[in-house]
Amino acid sequence: MQILRKPQPPLSGAKCAPFLEAWSACLLEMTGIALDAGLHAPRVWKLNIPTCLRELLWKDMTRLLPIGATWFGPLERGRTCSCGSELTLLHIWTSCETHDLTPLLQTLRDRLPALPPAAPAWTHPWYPLLALREMESARRVGKKAAKVLRRSRPEREWAIGSYLWLLWTNRMKEVHGEGYAPPWRLCATLEAALDTPPDLRQVC
Ligand SMILES: [Zn+2]
Repeated sequence: MQILRKPQPPLSGAKCAPFLEAWSACLLEMTGIALDAGLHAPRVWKLNIPTCLRELLWKDMTRLLPIGATWFGPLERGRTCSCGSELTLLHIWTSCETHDLTPLLQTLRDRLPALPPAAPAWTHPWYPLLALREMESARRVGKKAAKVLRRSRPEREWAIGSYLWLLWTNRMKEVHGEGYAPPWRLCATLEAALDTPPDLRQVC
């Protein structure tokens, strides 16, 4: 019987080159590990994160995000944050003077196991998700820690993914003028997402 797979866009060519280069450089700087981004990027489809976030991350890799000048053209909304910075995915997922993420980040930290690596302290919010297996291998963290980390990885992916997806959707509400809430008011929503039982999560 033939197995049908959902076709995935290629991750090669000039369009993806900036992402692949930035990802490898970021991981090398953060962890000291040299990794081939082309091999790790397809893992995005296997992460235990909200389905829509997988698609958003893929768009980030392939430079097709519905944000910035390429999407909004000359319109200011969707291009600039209220703090004056360019509105990028990285900016949305990083605190700025008009969007303090500290309380929400603390909610996430409180729910993650107190084990290395301290995910929310990553300099880039999502790139390391693709390389958790390497970062948490027995060779790097020891056999015992690797075993514990392997078990908790799906839950940590879900927690970080829920946090990132919540911030993205909230910021899009702000851009489109539809029910935006200051980040500190999202703590209960994040708690609810983290409490969602695995069989009720939309991950595939
Ligand atoms: Zn800002």
